[in-house]
Amino acid sequence: MLNSLFINFCILATFLYISGWLTQRYALSMDTPSLKVKIYAGILFGLIGQIMMLHSFPIDMNLTADLRHLVMMVAAIYFGWIPAIISGLLIGFGRMVIFGVSISSVIIGSGMLLIAVISGWISTTRLDRMTKMQIMNAGSMVIHLLVILTNMTDHERAFIFFITQLVVSTIAAALLCLLTEHTHAANKLLLQINTPAAPGDMTNLSHLKQFEQRLSERFLEAQHFGERLGLIIVDIDHFKKINDTYGHEAGDAVLLQLGNVMKEHARSFDEVSRSGGDEFTVLVPEATPIEMTAIAERIREAVEKHTFLLHSGTKLHLTVSVGVAVHPDTMMARQAIELLEQADQELYRAKNTGRNKVCIAPGLQPPNFGVPLQ
Ligand code: GH3
Ligand code: MG
Repeated sequence: MLNSLFINFCILATFLYISGWLTQRYALSMDTPSLKVKIYAGILFGLIGQIMMLHSFPIDMNLTADLRHLVMMVAAIYFGWIPAIISGLLIGFGRMVIFGVSISSVIIGSGMLLIAVISGWISTTRLDRMTKMQIMNAGSMVIHLLVILTNMTDHERAFIFFITQLVVSTIAAALLCLLTEHTHAANKLLLQINTPAAPGDMTNLSHLKQFEQRLSERFLEAQHFGERLGLIIVDIDHFKKINDTYGHEAGDAVLLQLGNVMKEHARSFDEVSRSGGDEFTVLVPEATPIEMTAIAERIREAVEKHTFLLHSGTKLHLTVSVGVAVHPDTMMARQAIELLEQADQELYRAKNTGRNKVCIAPGLQPPNFGVPLQ
């Protein structure tokens, strides 16, 4: 069984690599995929589901299980409910084509479609991706249990079958999510880097390439003169909802105003950049950890209180999550990239622990603010 499981995971990993490569090759945004991309993704994920079905793993002499439901979940999390349903339909009907039409294959096929519908629905919630994956997996396990109980009369065997599948599926879901997250993050970075430099960014701030250059220059200076250099990364919470609800132009207006709010609340010699999408950075020279934290918190609070005005006259309120790191206080190695990675990691932590907060790399002593600092 371990051999088959290993092969299953290798197939999934290869498939993820290929779909990640396709996404990057055709510069597709997984954040706002077009309908065409969603349909292609649904078909692609449906086909990989069929392959998973053909590479099932044995649980006893006569029983086999597979991980095809995980494929639908990845489709739902990264591309939305449309590809989840398309892949669910393909996997459900594929089951009947491959194994013939029988009552049991109709029940199993319907179970797959139901998993696709539930996953599609969970994908629309605001949970983080790992939580979504685990909830989808739990939901699919309940459906698996119902299907097993309908198809098997020997309850002891059914129980062993279910428990084995539960354990394998839960571990595989977590591993798959980590792997997909890594591919997604790498693609996002590549897309950002390959996006042609836009000297006239609409926010009137420096763009990614300028920011990276300033970061390495400032970092070398800080090292040379034995000074501090802090980095703050700010990302809007649920910005996609603003684009989806009010349109891309409204999103642009929000980005422009956020840039202004950030400039107003950073110090005059701090450098505010838009590093891509809804992510902004502030390079903060010669600030003690306490000052760094205060600036980050001031920006977070200012955004929370700011009323964003759209062209239509609609007023909006939004929040940001913030990651902070300081050279040399939070750093082991002494490289600019480490400062960036640390602040990014802290931003990730802020996102995953409730958003609208500042998270600081370990090593800093957070001052006593009203909003809990992590
Ligand atoms: P989270 O809280 O996890 O950050 O959720 P989010 O919805 O903000 O997700 P994420 O930061 O991953 O998505 C950023 C979105 O920003 C995705 C993309 O559609 C949108 N975006 C990127 N560049 C622009 C732009 O120049 N203008 C507009 N209007 N939207 C943009
Ligand atoms: Mg965001």
